[in-house]
Amino acid sequence: MLELNPIEHFDLFNNPKSNILVIYTGGTLGMDYDEAGSLAPCGFDSVLRRAPVIKELQINLSVISFKIPIDSSKVEVSHWQQIAKVIYDHYDGFDGFLILHGTDTMAYSASALSFMLEGLNKPVIFTGAQLPIASPRSDAKENLVTSLEIAADTKNGKPVITEVCIFFNNVLLRGNRSKKVESQQFDAFESENYPILAKAGITIDYQWSYLRTPVVEKLKLHDQMDASIVILKLFPGLSEPVVEHLLNSPDIRGVILESYGAGNVPNESWFLNLLEKGNQEGKVILNISQCNGGKVIHGKYQTSSELDRIGVISGEDMTTEAATTKMMHALAHYSNITDVKTCLTTPIRGEMN
Ligand code: ASP
Repeated sequence: MLELNPIEHFDLFNNPKSNILVIYTGGTLGMDYDEAGSLAPCGFDSVLRRAPVIKELQINLSVISFKIPIDSSKVEVSHWQQIAKVIYDHYDGFDGFLILHGTDTMAYSASALSFMLEGLNKPVIFTGAQLPIASPRSDAKENLVTSLEIAADTKNGKPVITEVCIFFNNVLLRGNRSKKVESQQFDAFESENYPILAKAGITIDYQWSYLRTPVVEKLKLHDQMDASIVILKLFPGLSEPVVEHLLNSPDIRGVILESYGAGNVPNESWFLNLLEKGNQEGKVILNISQCNGGKVIHGKYQTSSELDRIGVISGEDMTTEAATTKMMHALAHYSNITDVKTCLTTPIRGEMN
């Protein structure tokens, strides 16, 4: 298990509007200049110093930080397990959860957390920034402040958001529908296949009909993930020995096939035979599209018409991030391949239509 700093409480109000637990993992948002003038991860107290306006939000904050804050390119399954466990263990004590995370793998982490936490009826909001909070033009302060407001928002005494989301550059997106699409501008995330959940302007305008409705069941933690999977992205020229090598590997249990357009593949017999053999030998092969928008439709073109027959399943309109983490979840959760496939083809957290 990764090491966490002890929980710190910034109890600023006697009658707070909300109690939020911040989980600080690292990323650009929380960087500050060190003595040598270089950007390095800093503690949450420096973040608070850089964004004193947080103290005016009528929110009491508690913070749990990774002992060593990380660049999110280094995120592993164990980090997701740690974050999910923190939320699970502190679920009753807080009204909402805010995860400060690097942008690079934020969509993977938000997707993973959505599968690990079943039965959420409180907000879990991820945010980060493209520029460190110490930088004068940083987007960190706006992202942080509005994320906190969203995490604290209620309607008729109930939390407005009851799912895992990403808030970034004034839009709130469903976590398992999001993708990082931009590394230079502030609008880093998009959700092509699902409408934005809220837009923050002068007010925060929620799209009520697209929000996930709260469930009454108790929160369940599914923190096991089986990462023995691979993403096979098609490209013209992909060769038989390479595909054969992957599909023959005993270490691979699941293959995310990133196909073209509406789920099309080169329907040469060598390729289809390898997929069929992989399926017969117990590998789960899930077809998703390389496109950000639209969905896989087996049989729309001749080039995908054999896929159902040879046992490839359709990931419909799932993102790569959602498909990858859902595959890890399903392989860990079910021992029977039919159950794994049923899980992958059924919407479980609003990740597919
Ligand atoms: N490399 C950084 C990270 O993902 C980028 C960021 O935070 O925006 O941790």
